[in-house]
Amino acid sequence: MSNLKITDVRAILTEPEPGSRFTVVKVETSEPGLYGLGCASLRTRPLAVKAAIEDYLRPFLIGKDPADIEDIWQSAYVSSYWRSGPILNNALSGVDEALWDIKGKVAGMPVYDLIGGKAREAAAVYAHASASTPEEVENQAWGFIEEGYHYVRIQVATPGFATYGASGGEGHNRDPQDGPKWITTKADPADDRFAYAQRAGVYEPKPYMRSAIALMERIRSSVGWKVELIHDVHERLPTILAVDFAKEVEAFKLFYLEDLLPPHEIGWYERVREQCATPMAIGEIFNNPLEVVPLIYGRLIDFVRTRLSPIGGITPARKYAAMAELMGVRTAFQGPGNVSPVGQAAHLQVDLNISNFGVQEEAIYSEKILEIFPGAPTIRDGFMWSNGQPGLGIDINEELAAKYPHNEQGGGHFDNVRRADGTVVRP
Ligand code: MG
Repeated sequence: MSNLKITDVRAILTEPEPGSRFTVVKVETSEPGLYGLGCASLRTRPLAVKAAIEDYLRPFLIGKDPADIEDIWQSAYVSSYWRSGPILNNALSGVDEALWDIKGKVAGMPVYDLIGGKAREAAAVYAHASASTPEEVENQAWGFIEEGYHYVRIQVATPGFATYGASGGEGHNRDPQDGPKWITTKADPADDRFAYAQRAGVYEPKPYMRSAIALMERIRSSVGWKVELIHDVHERLPTILAVDFAKEVEAFKLFYLEDLLPPHEIGWYERVREQCATPMAIGEIFNNPLEVVPLIYGRLIDFVRTRLSPIGGITPARKYAAMAELMGVRTAFQGPGNVSPVGQAAHLQVDLNISNFGVQEEAIYSEKILEIFPGAPTIRDGFMWSNGQPGLGIDINEELAAKYPHNEQGGGHFDNVRRADGTVVRP
């Protein structure tokens, strides 16, 4: 108990760079100038999250003691009777992270100190080497190694097909808006068999598998063992091909293979585990404990890859991480450029504290974004560093944020990628 009361809860929507579409929650208290910030960024449905925060959580929270984080989390979680899901959990995350921020400011300690102190000085991050050609991916990977990175994710476009995560940019793929790009290579526009799929392109699993394996061969033989390699399947393989792919890439000793299978097919991870030792990471679209708990408990994955906001913030993330630690599973929180700097600051607090940290996905923010969010974690020599300030150590310039409202035209959905016969493929 403290003498503080929550006096207001607001959602701040800002899109300083195309596609960023941040949602940040500000929880204000009865002590003038004492407030907390949290990330509730769900860029595909931000207005639904805003309504969940301001129309439902705000009246539920006003008058409560911000010190009672666990009680507020538990009571808010069941306040809708039906619970979990990306909308409600993102809203709850914004509040939860803001309450940790407030508690840290009151204590005069960064959150990682409040929850037990540092297990490491900084969080290792992975960079994205993504391009339309294997040569360019290799050049990027070498560039990152020279910058000091120890972890690089490699993605290449499949010639003639739509491919997840491969852009055709020059030099390092340090796109500040979004990290990796979703689609680059499209089917031949002159070929009208693909007319229905012109916006997002045609995807076929076997050509993808061959191009990805060829890339891994090339990169591993070029860079040797100087760097850990990561690859993201983005849940695009049919189940038995996924097992086959995991077996075939075992030779390249990846740090992990990401999202080999979608949440509804997690039963197949047992089949994968029986047949190879390729490390598995999954969880960026998980939002319900039912999804990740069986995988941790069964020791079927190696890295929990949730982002904090769709699972409800720092409070549940600590519990997932503690369970994972006891089962020999590490973390690799998702952190692309559509996670706000407040969300990355929250990731970093947990990354620094837990003993079973694996790696953190990096987001490279533009100067414009960093001006709006003073105190954002910095990335240097392949690591993300905290400024050691109380709470999350980050602030928001609301006046500046207000200059960049969400673009109503963009976002809201993924363009559908399709198979050659027109069947929808997962994003
Ligand atoms: Mg991913």
